[in-house]
Amino acid sequence: MVVRRPLIAGNWKMNFDHLRAVAFVQKVAWVLKDAKFSASEVEVSVFPPFTDIRSVQTLIESDGLSFAFGAQDLSQFDDGPHTGDISGEFLKKLNCRYVIIGHSERRQDHHEDDEVVAAKTKAALKHGIVPVICVGETSADLEEFGASAVPVGQLRAAIAGIPGDAEIVVAYEPVWAIGSGQAATPQQAQTVCAALRAVIAEVMSQEVADATRILYGGSVKSGNIASFMREKDVDGALVGGASLDAEEFAKIVQFPKHVIA
Ligand code: PEP
Repeated sequence: MVVRRPLIAGNWKMNFDHLRAVAFVQKVAWVLKDAKFSASEVEVSVFPPFTDIRSVQTLIESDGLSFAFGAQDLSQFDDGPHTGDISGEFLKKLNCRYVIIGHSERRQDHHEDDEVVAAKTKAALKHGIVPVICVGETSADLEEFGASAVPVGQLRAAIAGIPGDAEIVVAYEPVWAIGSGQAATPQQAQTVCAALRAVIAEVMSQEVADATRILYGGSVKSGNIASFMREKDVDGALVGGASLDAEEFAKIVQFPKHVIA
């Protein structure tokens, strides 16, 4: 049986400048050290804005902190006339392990469609960065198509044509649950995450599907993380708002210690 190491990923979005980013990571590290947190049990990654990444990298590497880090987006292009964009090559040089791709805020604010998401997924893999591919339905999609159809279609489009043995992470984030305080139920998350795993098995292989971490995202907090993590196909969380509070984020990371009523 494959054991998937859970991943708790903090998506800071457009919050924290590089000074606050450093102070924040230090604080989470202290809290977790005090709590004798073991990184072998749970992988923790932060996703700062581009302008913070170098500072966060320097802190993590110089202090030997057991956090991964990544970017919130990348360009589908390697270089050239793309004002404002950041290439996977640059991110790799900063040792980014992950990059978030296709977050619903980018799909909405920057009109990123499945084709762009697929191109960005390929660009990440080309540069040796693990894509965290975000998929999820709006409340209108939910009403019209049910919970799984839209995320399944988005994932199918994103992974078409990638190497069959690629390491990817998938984040199921129902758009209606993001920042709303109204999380999906653990059962809803499980149903969609299982459907997403089946797509990976079909398009890639059963072996890759068994090894791939599928995260739930959408109003995750310390009070509900353990109930999601009990589900068989939920391997972690992509956390937005609650990842901006060091104590709360540290509590989420320590979900194996939570007692569920
Ligand atoms: C997100 O934007 O990825 C997210 C999950 O946000 P929140 O946790 O605030 O719902």
